[in-house]
Amino acid sequence: MSISENLLRIKNNLPENVHLVAVSKTKPVEDLMEAYHAGQRIFGENKIQEMTEKWEQMPKDIQWHMIGHVQTNKVKYMAPYVNLIHGVDSLKLLIEINKQAKKWRRVIPCLLQVYIATEETKFGLAHDELLQLIHSDEFKALENIKIVGLMGMASFTDNNDKIRSEFQSLKDIFNYVKPYQLNNCHFEHLSMGMSGDYQIAIECGSTIVRIGSSIFGSR
Ligand SMILES: *Cc1c(COP(=O)(O)O)cnc(C)c1O
Repeated sequence: MSISENLLRIKNNLPENVHLVAVSKTKPVEDLMEAYHAGQRIFGENKIQEMTEKWEQMPKDIQWHMIGHVQTNKVKYMAPYVNLIHGVDSLKLLIEINKQAKKWRRVIPCLLQVYIATEETKFGLAHDELLQLIHSDEFKALENIKIVGLMGMASFTDNNDKIRSEFQSLKDIFNYVKPYQLNNCHFEHLSMGMSGDYQIAIECGSTIVRIGSSIFGSR
């Protein structure tokens, strides 16, 4: 199956309220353009330099989502154009995003990454760290970022029950923080689900799925 066939098959089976991020990391611009011509406008990358090179070369009606772990010293390269940063997991990083966004007179939408897996390697905030962050005075003072939801990754496992319970725990945290609203904080999106587990994620309330290999092939 071609990239465009893969894309349309997945897209046509998503509920209307679920957004599709086509995860194009490591793939060449030609592959992204095939998805673009099939109608895809949201692309996800996990390296800032690679995303910036693609942003420079590709049509300007594309929305670029940073889905990887972000290093503070690289935020400046994506600040002019990035549409959503999924993996924010510290106040320090938010302060830097806010500073760079201000230079461009932008408000940059972000998702807070929550740790739901049992694996050591996954980044993210614990539930209490999340609450601490959004209730801190330093956070409340940030005017050039906007938290629009949460992001999480389930453990890499074949055990669907485990995946489901991890996604469900993120949905529970989401429901818990949802009523909490500030000028820079409005929880409406839940980014969870990749090629192997997005159907479970949608059943657990995902509104943004990040799908790479099922569209572009293995990396
Ligand atoms: C690579 C990646 C994806 C997509 O993974 P696939 O299994 O190829 O769909 C989703 N989210 C994050 C954070 C990723 O790094």
